[in-house]
Amino acid sequence: MVRITADKNTFVCPKCNNNIPWTEMLQFKKGHETVCSNCKTHLVTKNPVSFSWGFLLGFLGFIVPAKTISYLYDNILLAFICGVSGATLIILILLIYLYNTTEFIEAN
Ligand SMILES: [Zn+2]
Repeated sequence: MVRITADKNTFVCPKCNNNIPWTEMLQFKKGHETVCSNCKTHLVTKNPVSFSWGFLLGFLGFIVPAKTISYLYDNILLAFICGVSGATLIILILLIYLYNTTEFIEAN
C-alpha cells in the first residue's frame, strides 16, 4: 500500500530501525503505546496522534457522497457504493499521510 524507502525515519523503531506495522495506526489514541516486534521497546509517537477523528472523516466521506447520489439518482445501491468508495478513499489518504509523518520515540 505504501512505498517504503530505505532512508525513511517515519514509522520505524528508533532503536533498531524495525518497521512498525501500519495497522498500529488504527489503534492510535491518546497515550497509546506500541511495542516493537523486534526489540520489544515500548514506543510512543513523537507527536500525539489520534485516529479517532479519522473515523469521523471517514464517516463524512461516506455520508456526503451517499446522500448526494441518493438525492440525485434515487438509487440506494449506487449511493451505498459511492459512500463506501468515498470513505475508503479518505481513510486511505489519512493512513498514508500518518504513515509518512509519524515518528516514534521510546516511551518513558
Ligand atoms: Zn525495535
